[in-house]
Amino acid sequence: MAYEYDNQNIFAKILRGEIPNDTVLETDHTLAFNDIAPQAPVHVLVIPRGPYVTWDHFAAKASDAEIIDYARAIRKVIDKFDLSPGEHGQGYRLLVNGGEAGIQEVPHLHTHVLSGRILGRMLPG
Ligand code: 5GP
Repeated sequence: MAYEYDNQNIFAKILRGEIPNDTVLETDHTLAFNDIAPQAPVHVLVIPRGPYVTWDHFAAKASDAEIIDYARAIRKVIDKFDLSPGEHGQGYRLLVNGGEAGIQEVPHLHTHVLSGRILGRMLPG
């Protein structure tokens, strides 16, 4: 299956430093930054540095090092905001939209990390 990456998407520009971002943390293969239009008191976007469009693209094509780094970077965001329920934190939601049905607006894989309030049911209706 062919995955076509648009290197003019807004997150590609953030990764190249062409537009600013409010960085939460950086690792070798991953960048986390605050969402520009937060839907909750904590709303962080976590993106791989590599050119991956969707979760399935990333899982198919990324190296083991990138995938491990990405998973651990998300955990570091959870840790940074003291959200882990296992550590008596408030909890969180991870959300990844993919393609048309998921209403993915930016075609570079991103995981939303949401918390800071009770988030409501997962899907409306
Ligand atoms: P999606 O709908 O693709 O899952 O989510 C895209 C997210 O990117 C939205 O929550 C939107 O607010 C955020 N976003 C779009 N443009 C920018 C930007 O230039 N900077 C930041 N920090 N977030 C953005």
